[in-house]
Amino acid sequence: MVPDVESNLVTTPVRTRFAPSPTGLPHVGNIRTALFAWLFARHHGGSFIVRIEDTDVARKVEGAVDAILGSLRWLGLDWDEGPEVGGKYGPYFQSQRLDLYHRAAERLVRQGNAYYCYCSPQRLDEMRKEQTRRKMPPGYDRLCRNLSEAERRQKEAEGITPVVRFKTPLIGQTRFKDFIWGNVVFENNLLDDLVLLKSDGYPTYHLANIVDDHEMEITHVIRAEEWLSSTPRHVLLYDAMGYAPPRFAHLPMILGPDRSKLSKRHGAVSVAEYREQGFLPEAMLNFLALLGWSLDDKTELFTREELIKSFSLERVSKTGAIFNIEKLKWMNGVYIRGLTADEFAWRSIPFLERDLPPDVARPLPVEYVREVMPLVQERVKTLLEVTPLTRYFFAENLDYDANLLISKGMDGESTVRALEMSQKRLTELKTFDAGVLEALLRPLAEELGLKTGQLFGTLRTAVTGETATPPLFQTMAVLGRERCLTRIQEAIDRLKRSS
Ligand code: GLU
Repeated sequence: MVPDVESNLVTTPVRTRFAPSPTGLPHVGNIRTALFAWLFARHHGGSFIVRIEDTDVARKVEGAVDAILGSLRWLGLDWDEGPEVGGKYGPYFQSQRLDLYHRAAERLVRQGNAYYCYCSPQRLDEMRKEQTRRKMPPGYDRLCRNLSEAERRQKEAEGITPVVRFKTPLIGQTRFKDFIWGNVVFENNLLDDLVLLKSDGYPTYHLANIVDDHEMEITHVIRAEEWLSSTPRHVLLYDAMGYAPPRFAHLPMILGPDRSKLSKRHGAVSVAEYREQGFLPEAMLNFLALLGWSLDDKTELFTREELIKSFSLERVSKTGAIFNIEKLKWMNGVYIRGLTADEFAWRSIPFLERDLPPDVARPLPVEYVREVMPLVQERVKTLLEVTPLTRYFFAENLDYDANLLISKGMDGESTVRALEMSQKRLTELKTFDAGVLEALLRPLAEELGLKTGQLFGTLRTAVTGETATPPLFQTMAVLGRERCLTRIQEAIDRLKRSS
């Protein structure tokens, strides 16, 4: 039966899956696919399954499964069945389900829907070259499709391990409906006899995928657009196996700003890199959800619950979605500003501990970090930006040019005088908070015959080594009297040395 895309009615319990191949770090496209499948399942109160498609032995990458699961976990995309959690349709690694695929392939051969092919890699290679030379469409020439029993026995006797190929119908059309692409029609004569079982005993993606989607009772296959052209083959396979196909939704491509497919050229593509660059998972989730889906073309900010509530495949577009890093940064800034001060401090600590110079003692004093962080929370778009902006709160030694201490219209001598006077007055203070500092330093400028900007500029450089910082009095208050006094003394020494 052809599923009806127009109908929004979902009657059976929804089961979606994310079926990554562990061939490398998961990139934003993979995780966007996972997110949409997860949102659809959660929206309908269904189940979200993770299945590892690890049948391509040559392309398997050590550690990729952990990286994939780690990215899902980071974004809070929890799975009801799959690695680590198990489930009644397991195992959830295809490499542990080989028997099922063998049985399916044998059944297809027995039924006359598939056949053994003994062609050598060399022959296939020559065939391909010949096809290119003659500008013919590529594809297996079906040499083994009609081998007689005697010919087959002969090949077996030669000790050749065959592959199993699907007997694609030579005429007719294959049709299916896609939630996003509508009615899709493929001419069967454009599809070749694809391999189902390889000579190493592993199934191809196509066979394993349809067997598992059936066995795991997947109701909605939500995956990247690149698989759209594989779907007619899958539909034919479902048909040959006598299985009802699931419903399909092929998600639009993710493009770089130049509208070509998003790739390394455009910068970071793996989700882990965004994490390391200080993006918050809630911002990333929000941003990824808008890559191809929208609620109303204007709402940009969604909590996880709002996404679950409003997500629908009907609102997924066909056009490629542009990955706009500026928008992600903006969104991340919004989420950072929305964190409580405490939460912001907690999230910043791993970045500070990773990026501060090695001589800063770890673990960092949490109470102190809590005091520092509100000074920069409004100013950063990523957690990565926190360390350079707060370095001087943690580092013992500041490294700056003595000339920076000398404000416009001043010289070395008047600067030393201003610093010494400030030092003296600061020592006498009973309390050391921003209000008290302001009440002390504004009149002091006047007393010294300086503009406030001149005195404050000098002090700022002295206590931070920087010319731009959060408000001076708050900064000094957080640094504390001891540090400020030591640094002012160092500044005086520095000026004296350089004169
Ligand atoms: N293993 C395929 C991939 O990594 C899955 C495609 C599908 O969802 O069917 O993209």
